[in-house]
Amino acid sequence: MTDSSFYRGRSLWLDRLADDPLRPRSALPGPREVDVAVVGAGYTGLWTAYYLRRADPGLRVAVLEREVAGFGASGRNGGWCSAFIPMDREQLARRAGRGAVIALQREMFGTVDEVGRVAEREGIDCHWVKGGALQLAASPVQLARLEAGLRHARAWGMGEDDQRLLDRDEAERRVRAAGLVGAAFTPHCAAVDPARLVRGLAEVVERLGVPIYESTPVTRIRPGRVDTARGPVTAEIVVRATEGYTATLPGSHRAVIPLYSLMLATEPLSAAAWEQIGWAGGETLATGTHLSLYAQRTRDGRIACGRRGAPYHLGSRMRPGYDRDDRIHARLRAVLGELLPQVGAVGVTHRWGGPIGISRDWTASVGLDRATGLAWAGGYVGDGVALANLAGRTLADLIVGQDSPLTRLPWVQHRSRPWEPEPLRWLGVNTGLRLAANLDASEQRSGRPARLRGRLLELFLGG
Ligand SMILES: Cc1cc2nc3c(=O)[nH]c(=O)nc-3n(C[C@H](O)[C@H](O)[C@H](O)COP(=O)(O)OP(=O)(O)OC[C@H]3O[C@@H](n4cnc5c(N)ncnc54)[C@H](O)[C@@H]3O)c2cc1C
Repeated sequence: MTDSSFYRGRSLWLDRLADDPLRPRSALPGPREVDVAVVGAGYTGLWTAYYLRRADPGLRVAVLEREVAGFGASGRNGGWCSAFIPMDREQLARRAGRGAVIALQREMFGTVDEVGRVAEREGIDCHWVKGGALQLAASPVQLARLEAGLRHARAWGMGEDDQRLLDRDEAERRVRAAGLVGAAFTPHCAAVDPARLVRGLAEVVERLGVPIYESTPVTRIRPGRVDTARGPVTAEIVVRATEGYTATLPGSHRAVIPLYSLMLATEPLSAAAWEQIGWAGGETLATGTHLSLYAQRTRDGRIACGRRGAPYHLGSRMRPGYDRDDRIHARLRAVLGELLPQVGAVGVTHRWGGPIGISRDWTASVGLDRATGLAWAGGYVGDGVALANLAGRTLADLIVGQDSPLTRLPWVQHRSRPWEPEPLRWLGVNTGLRLAANLDASEQRSGRPARLRGRLLELFLGG
């Protein structure tokens, strides 16, 4: 059994769970039969179990987890509970119509509030603050990109109440970031402590009568059956809720790739530093660069921030060692200092990272194959905190056979094509990542958007 200090070391959030021993729950005691077997105890698996038991308290549901609940991205993320949808709207609209895509976006606005509502109802103290999200522009090129993003949002039915531009003065009244020329603001985002959310949710699910078997690696998923070293679990429905880890399951190695996003947390800042920075409205922050820095101000006055950019590893390999990268963490700290010089020499107390799951067309999906009983959800890129809740509610409806507005949303039953076999995948993804890193430097030098490289990036990394 893995030592709890290993789990604590996975993120600031897991480390700060003072009242939670993070000791694994009991493993699967032996072969079992249930109605629904859920593989993975992150947000997706746990929300699915939660809504299933509420829909049908008689349903026998079990969750199987290789490590502990919240070990994966759900215990390590930036804590943006946002309404962003990582999907190609145009592609979905071609299949399902424009109205369906707009309905999905509206559902996501409501999903942010649903997470907060359930947390409150169930007594999950996840430090929920709905202060919206700010995307900052520090150059005319970045501002132009925010304006283009806004035009795109308008074209997809979002109004002034959903997303708007702030001029420099208005942006600075919220946060005094260096070189600010403007910002985009959406109210549809809450900051949360992600580990408190996932660990609290696991307790709620258990209270509803769903066993969570931890230290129980699943070795194979197939129709009607999940194999583990401790015996099989037979089930009419099997839910794959393994996101960034999906490629480690036989038969799924080209479905979703893991890309590492790395984070750090500072020491708590002094009251004087916060006075200079502002940022008192509970907003989450992101920069307007291609490799965006995302951040939240924690309840205890730290800055927790992160960035993508770590290399993709051949064969979608994953190791605990990949959670830290001296070069990228040092760069992240430097970028934070450039953005908010007021932080000065404040120390970094935590450095960590984790895998985000990406499908070949960068489009998240949820679905159930009735013929095989195999269900899945994921490919959320870096936007799964709220989206996994929508996935859980949708899976519950699909599984109990409830036709609902959720089961008609256009991401339901969407199938992304598989990633290329290796080493093509490794070559393409890492070329795309390198281009993304170079784009910002080139834009900064020339003051112009790097269009050609942007298109190349889409070719390697997007749709
Ligand atoms: C550093 C970082 C920052 C992020 N920031 C944000 C953010 O601010 N906002 C946002 O919306 N999203 C963010 N994300 C993404 C978000 O965290 C994820 O989309 C979300 O947590 C996915 O939840 P999940 O339950 O699908 O997957 P996970 O939380 O990864 O859970 C999958 C679980 O499956 C288990 N598992 C895997 N394989 C097996 C197996 N064979 N047998 C048994 N169990 C298995 C794993 O141990 C894990 O616990 C971030 C992710 C990272 C890594």
